[in-house]
Amino acid sequence: MSPNQISDQNNLQSRDDRPLAPGLYLVATPIGNLEDITLRALRVLRQADRIACEDTRQTQKLLNHFEIRTPTVSYHMHNEGSRTEELIAELRQGARIAVVSDAGTPGIADPGGQIVAAALAAGVDVFPIPGANAAISGLIASGLPTEHFTFHGFLPAKAGQRKTALEDLDRSDATHIFYEAPHRILDTLADVESVFGPAQHVVIARELTKLHEEFLRGTVADLRSQLNARASVRGEIVLMLAPAAAETAPETKATLAAEVAALRKSEGISEMDALKRVARERGIGKSEAYRELQREQNRLR
Ligand code: SAM
Repeated sequence: MSPNQISDQNNLQSRDDRPLAPGLYLVATPIGNLEDITLRALRVLRQADRIACEDTRQTQKLLNHFEIRTPTVSYHMHNEGSRTEELIAELRQGARIAVVSDAGTPGIADPGGQIVAAALAAGVDVFPIPGANAAISGLIASGLPTEHFTFHGFLPAKAGQRKTALEDLDRSDATHIFYEAPHRILDTLADVESVFGPAQHVVIARELTKLHEEFLRGTVADLRSQLNARASVRGEIVLMLAPAAAETAPETKATLAAEVAALRKSEGISEMDALKRVARERGIGKSEAYRELQREQNRLR
């Protein structure tokens, strides 16, 4: 074991023993795979005076798994106002309160925002304890551009409002990320197709971090027919739309080789760098793009 490892271990140990500072802790919890809890989240949940939970029964399963005995209190969209007041009074007295949602990062399409604002207004320290989040997990493995993205949470459930929300999207260079319920995904895809056309490139990330994790990548028309062919669509879903620059259907696209050549010429970059850019813009993996490039080059020989 190197001296560094020893000092890291000591560091970890001493951090574990350190008492938790007073304040509000927003603790991310797993979105499926329990291994995604962090060491810091476990320490905070263990040492907090109380854990404010979106659903106490749901969180209790997590706490039981990790043998954490901290008392819980419910904190959800229906009692957010009154509970915030009560918790802020405790925080003012120096309490350590952890906030968790059913899964993922509190405050992201989940309760959390109101108590953060109230804590800050009351001069209470607020600490993020980062961890799992469905939107970011879906995005980073989607193959879509990650430089600019917009997270929208859930689209409206009503068809008319959903279509308007899609029509209002800024289609510049950002990937758009939505949460969607499994029973609505086919209707939403139908709306995406009617607003942006059948060639719009979309990615569906389903059941992230779970046993049946699945990524579907392709045109909205393809994905609709794939999902339509299933007896039912289940599980939790992140839906992502490629930016306008990456949305052209394969049959109307310039060849990949032509795109690579154009980029090399305009930007003076290597073939490999150009290929990586084109792959990213098309929402496909590097090796898939490389194989396609080779196929096109073989056709020309
Ligand atoms: N706060 C959570 C987060 O940080 O991701 C999101 C909570 S929101 C109420 C729940 C929605 O997130 C689900 O309906 C689904 O759209 C998405 N989601 C949560 N877990 C997921 C998973 N394992 N795979 C795909 N989507 C997931």
